[in-house]
Amino acid sequence: MVDVLLASEPNASKYDLHFTVAKIPVRIHPMFWLVTGIFGLLGGRPSLVTVALWIAAVLASILVHELGHALVARAYGWPPKITLYGMGGVASYRPTRQTTQSQVLIAFAGPGAGFVLGAVVLAAVLLSGHAVILPGLGIPIGDGPPLMLGGGRLELFVTYLLWVNFFWGLINLAPIQPLDGGTIVSALLSRKDPSTGLVRSLKLSVGIAATLAVASLTQGYVFLVIMFAMLGFNNWQLLSQLRQPG
Ligand SMILES: [Zn+2]
Repeated sequence: MVDVLLASEPNASKYDLHFTVAKIPVRIHPMFWLVTGIFGLLGGRPSLVTVALWIAAVLASILVHELGHALVARAYGWPPKITLYGMGGVASYRPTRQTTQSQVLIAFAGPGAGFVLGAVVLAAVLLSGHAVILPGLGIPIGDGPPLMLGGGRLELFVTYLLWVNFFWGLINLAPIQPLDGGTIVSALLSRKDPSTGLVRSLKLSVGIAATLAVASLTQGYVFLVIMFAMLGFNNWQLLSQLRQPG
């Protein structure tokens, strides 16, 4: 999720929800609720309460992620706005002069803000005397009774928050266009020579996407297989378009 499946910003709809956070305009397109809700239903425990908790966790996490991008863009003097759509979002702004540094910092600030939110949630879990296995990553942290044993609503909400902010934050840093990691690597590769930098970052995206698709297949993560296969294919298409003369 998080800026992953977005080709471009969706048109305005009369069901859009508008508000501001830190004076940054936020628009939530109705497809956000629908797509996130459907993914919630596909989870292991579909009920009205679990789907509502899932949507709340995704909403909070994507808002924090996009706010990370947006606040750094604003610090460069470029007024941002945030749109949530599908199961993702985008922070858009008009840069006057992008540098490698501004591109890297703005791109990293999204997952970075998510890691901070995840760390705050993790600290609260540890302070409550529980241990936790980071969802999706399988990393055990802390001692005491594991968090999920009770399986209550708060535990579920906390698990969703940890999953989205750590697991998806790391996925988002994979050096694949247009993930945040892809933006970072592309900016670094284009520093000396923008034209070869673009080709190299697209080639790298295809290679990493193919590798991660196979790795996800061996782990049985069907959604990730589909996502990485699509990302790899998109980058391969962009690469072929660049190679065609005229
Ligand atoms: Zn992002």
